[in-house]
Amino acid sequence: MANRFEQGCDVVTLTRALVQQGAMAGQEAPVADVVRAAMQALGFDKIVTDDLGNVTGLVGPRDAPVKLLFDGHMDVVPASGLWSRDPFSGDVQGGQIHGRGTTDMKGPLAAAICGVAEAARTGDLSHRVAVSASVMEEVIEGAALSPVLDTHAPEAVVICEPSDLELKIAQRGCVEVLVHVAGIPAHAAFPERGVNAIELAARATLALAALEMPTDPVLGKMVLVPTDIISAPYPSISALPSKVSLRYDRRTGVGETAETVMQQIRAALAPIDPVAFTVEVSASDYQSYTGISFRFPRDLPAWHTPETHPLVRAVQSCLTDLGLSPQPGRYEFCTNGSEAAGRRGLPTIGFGPGRPSDAHIIDESISVAALEQAVAVYRALALRIGAVDIARVG
Ligand SMILES: [Zn+2]
Repeated sequence: MANRFEQGCDVVTLTRALVQQGAMAGQEAPVADVVRAAMQALGFDKIVTDDLGNVTGLVGPRDAPVKLLFDGHMDVVPASGLWSRDPFSGDVQGGQIHGRGTTDMKGPLAAAICGVAEAARTGDLSHRVAVSASVMEEVIEGAALSPVLDTHAPEAVVICEPSDLELKIAQRGCVEVLVHVAGIPAHAAFPERGVNAIELAARATLALAALEMPTDPVLGKMVLVPTDIISAPYPSISALPSKVSLRYDRRTGVGETAETVMQQIRAALAPIDPVAFTVEVSASDYQSYTGISFRFPRDLPAWHTPETHPLVRAVQSCLTDLGLSPQPGRYEFCTNGSEAAGRRGLPTIGFGPGRPSDAHIIDESISVAALEQAVAVYRALALRIGAVDIARVG
């Protein structure tokens, strides 16, 4: 990789090299190798790989604080379904790079690495700028970014997830809730001798479907939807089951927490039966490619950075200068912004090449022209942020 970047960064070459490594969550080691090699060749003066395997590269004066962090994740979702070409070829055809992860989000990650490297190579950085290639975003949005934020303490964050080159300043949160319904098993020939957990669960789903969802002024009306139902034991032959578990996906607004969401659900279920229902946040076990095991509760806070914030204004002026729309909008999916902005309150915006509707689909691809525009925006922002007082509340 070293010789390829002597004349600056080639975002197409880097995107292809990243796409060709594939890598689902927890298997990002070969992608991390490519990222480190590219950062080294491009003049990042410090490259840190943390315990979870996130790779963070830094440029700018060594003693200055990190003013801005650009984040892009290295993992992809599986390339399932029938593709018209090898999903990990990184073929370039018709002005598009093809393959799993081109849009979500090896292309945006490559653009961030190139944009920041170009800012350091061609401009005069008065401050430190970092790029994180983070792990496992597809399964633990936000949590993997924690060690990056702890280690480098950036003043502000750019989420580089695909936004079709539009500015994003907000994102709904997500809390995944398990509702356990306890029944009293009995012989199916005499159901009156027990309590049927399936019938209780049916009444619970109707009560939760009727719940009035709050409306967030920026993020719109919230959503509560069941995504799983499972009874135990399964199969339950000639017997009422002892338990039914329901999984709910609740999209949340700014200020809502897992606790307020669970309180609302408990209050709706108590009139059906005061003791049959227990409610908890769902959690799963994961392992990083570096061998760290951890448990992740699916509790991803919403966030919103005000339009008047100096970071937003700085991005808008870069976009206007480069002929792009400064109109702010919101992401429709969860991102690592849930950690940066939602949990830590760091000024955060989203901007990336690639259409969100191209993420996770068969025959995913990204436009080379969009990648090059993103490099220009990231470069301009990395330079401009030096003159911005991020702490000043707009
Ligand atoms: Zn993504």
